[in-house]
Amino acid sequence: MNRDDFPILNQQVYNRPLVYLDNAATTQKPLCVINALTEAYTTWNANIHRGVHHLSQVATARHEAARQRVADFIHAASSREIIFTKGTTDSINTLAFSFGEAFVHEGDEIIVSAVEHHSDIVPWQMLCQRKHATLRVIPLRPDLTLDLEAFPTLLSDRTRLVALAHVSNVLGTINPVRDIIRLAHERNIPVAIDGAQSVPHLIVDVQDLDCDFLSFSAHKIYGPTGLGVLYGKEHWLNLLPPAEGGGEMIEHVRWDNTTYNTLPYKFEAGTPDFIGSYALSRALDYIDETGRQAIVDYESELTRYLEEQLLTLAGIHVYAASLEKAGAVSFNAFRPDGELIHPFDVGTLLDRQGVAVRTGHHCAEPLIDHLGVPGTVRASLALYNTREDIDALLRALRTALAMLS
Ligand code: PMP
Repeated sequence: MNRDDFPILNQQVYNRPLVYLDNAATTQKPLCVINALTEAYTTWNANIHRGVHHLSQVATARHEAARQRVADFIHAASSREIIFTKGTTDSINTLAFSFGEAFVHEGDEIIVSAVEHHSDIVPWQMLCQRKHATLRVIPLRPDLTLDLEAFPTLLSDRTRLVALAHVSNVLGTINPVRDIIRLAHERNIPVAIDGAQSVPHLIVDVQDLDCDFLSFSAHKIYGPTGLGVLYGKEHWLNLLPPAEGGGEMIEHVRWDNTTYNTLPYKFEAGTPDFIGSYALSRALDYIDETGRQAIVDYESELTRYLEEQLLTLAGIHVYAASLEKAGAVSFNAFRPDGELIHPFDVGTLLDRQGVAVRTGHHCAEPLIDHLGVPGTVRASLALYNTREDIDALLRALRTALAMLS
């Protein structure tokens, strides 16, 4: 893993070397991804699919090769199961609208978990409002794991779908998605996984997991921003109506009867981000060249080190301490009298020392309310982070605590 592959990391902020620990929000890009964007715009940019001319055919081939690249990366059975979207949020909204149109009616139920990002709550709430359905929530145990004993009691004949995050973007914890999928499938209920935080840090194999849908964002996995993926089992995608109308998603348009394109184009109205998909495929190449298992092992060792180091500091509380995590650790600082130091103050003092972390509710207000705090400080890792980064965080945190206590 070569830090020099990520030119942005080699800079100073406030005269201190940048320590970038906000990777759960977005990752930095390796040169091969940045160069892919320039290469595309300088040599083969042309709108795809509808062109007979050379550049259009090159662009189409690159976009479709990228689709196959994504399918291989998550081990989808076919590239027809890979829909390009604008990001995880767009993937989940597309699914919620489309699935809702086909399968959700008054009195039906959708289940989400207590640790979801707003992107995996609000689209389902909107669907429930639209269809007069009910949203139910898998609760947390005191140790902040999902309550697997409560989960089966939530399943009913009215449950239409279960949606949950593979990895919590706040706690970094890995949810028991295999158990949830098995229990839901016993009742023929499909499961949609929010993979925004798992696909970048774990080896996610959709066939092995047996999830029915999976969403993730390119920008969180070293790829370009504004692009995402919605995976769906072909069987399901065939049953779902398109969520948006426009060019490319049609077979024929007639005033009296418009017919729709085959998969995956049925779900891709308008010109897709074919430059972004190419750059994403280069990001996935970069990951494979680095070694996926090597990245998983390295990051999990680094995450353990981060948590261990935080736990050595008096006044620091780590959430879900000792639970296995993938890439992110949330904590708060407390004064000797037990009063919470606002996470924003901690984050600001870390920033002045060159350390970039995220503070606040991390777009997961129900979970933050459950924790009973105004927010947390979250440090999140990527393959280019090192023990030195974590040591720098700890030094900066000691200084911040001394100032704020
Ligand atoms: N789900 C989870 C678990 C996330 O961490 C995020 C990004 N923080 C999202 C959804 C939304 O991703 P995006 O903003 O790329 O659509």
